Amino acid sequence: MVHPTFRLTSLLILCCSLLGCDSATKPDQVFQGKTMGTVWRVTVGGLTQEQAKQLPELIQHQLDQDDQELSTWKKDSWLSRFNQNPSLSPQPVSDNVAAIISSAMNVGRATEGAMDITVGPLVNLWGFGPNALPTHTPTDQQIVTAREKIGLAHLTLSETANGNFLRKDIPDLYVDLSTVGEGFAADHLARLMEQQGVRNYLVSVGGALISRGQHQAGHSWRVAVQKPTDKLNQAQVVVDLQGHGISTSGDYRNYYELDGKRISHIIDPNSGRPINHHLVSATVIATTALEADAWDTGLMVLGTDKAKALALRHHLAVYLITKQGDNFVGWASPTFKTFIVDDSDR
Ligand code: FAD
Repeated sequence: MVHPTFRLTSLLILCCSLLGCDSATKPDQVFQGKTMGTVWRVTVGGLTQEQAKQLPELIQHQLDQDDQELSTWKKDSWLSRFNQNPSLSPQPVSDNVAAIISSAMNVGRATEGAMDITVGPLVNLWGFGPNALPTHTPTDQQIVTAREKIGLAHLTLSETANGNFLRKDIPDLYVDLSTVGEGFAADHLARLMEQQGVRNYLVSVGGALISRGQHQAGHSWRVAVQKPTDKLNQAQVVVDLQGHGISTSGDYRNYYELDGKRISHIIDPNSGRPINHHLVSATVIATTALEADAWDTGLMVLGTDKAKALALRHHLAVYLITKQGDNFVGWASPTFKTFIVDDSDR
């Protein structure tokens, strides 16, 4: 069900004890904190004392900046002000905002609108944004009204020599970057590590992770996709990230029940309703955590067959878990298979 404060991630970072590392090896340092309604975690090796002292504050500062720009939960964020402003004139945007919107729109088009960052009115109607949960299933009319306010075609990003501009062509357009914000923030933490001279790290923000190098014991970073159950820490498949980003979208941890039905937080912009099919999670590995985070939601909306076809067409590294009867069946795209280090006995 929806976790009241922090959403649980479907990815599990495999630590030394699970990998059987030498106990004499100096362990990596782990820093963690809260951001964007979820948790961040940074695992690093080889820090100087000075770096270890400064790093948590630098991380939190970076995440607070992203939150202040991209949040729809904060009324005074840049994005909330854009959403509240009915003006149809182009609004200047930072390189940061332009980068996340550009990536999200590219994936949105590639998924034919299944991933749509203008889906906010529907997300809010179904109670997954900052609004309270609905007490009854939204009516057909409410869904039609919300659908009239969405669509990537209503949003234009211009990146020019004179700056970046974002324009909407209907006053009520509401951009919701929840599905990509965690990946974007994880990439920023990776960039921060590089700026600080840290060469071995694994960073995560909510369900989006990215790594570089190795952990202290000389192993590459390994991450497990968890089995899609409410029980924690059961690995379905283990991957070696090889310096890539990874993100999972699933509907088995973030849902609630309304009028006797299970309501997923992934909304199909086409029907205006939460998804209701047998694909329970989609994991994507990509060059950046942002890219991985954008694709996973789109694949979830599309369902197993279309998601497989899209993964093959775009050579994406994708792992899908589908419910068949009482069983969960995994499917790895050929590109994903190149990252798998263990899927035995699962
Ligand atoms: P993902 O699968 O990555 O994305 C699903 C989410 O994307 C849905 O919850 C919905 O918001 C949206 N979505 C649904 N369908 C679609 C679709 N078809 N296309 C595109 N998007 C869709 N949560 C809080 O509770 N409190 C906060 O203060 C808070 N602040 C945040 C600030 C920022 C900057 C961001 C980016 C997110 C914030 N969140 C907050 C949201 C939260 O932490 C997660 O980002 C959110 O729940 C989605 O992450 P996920 O990995 O669970 O789901």
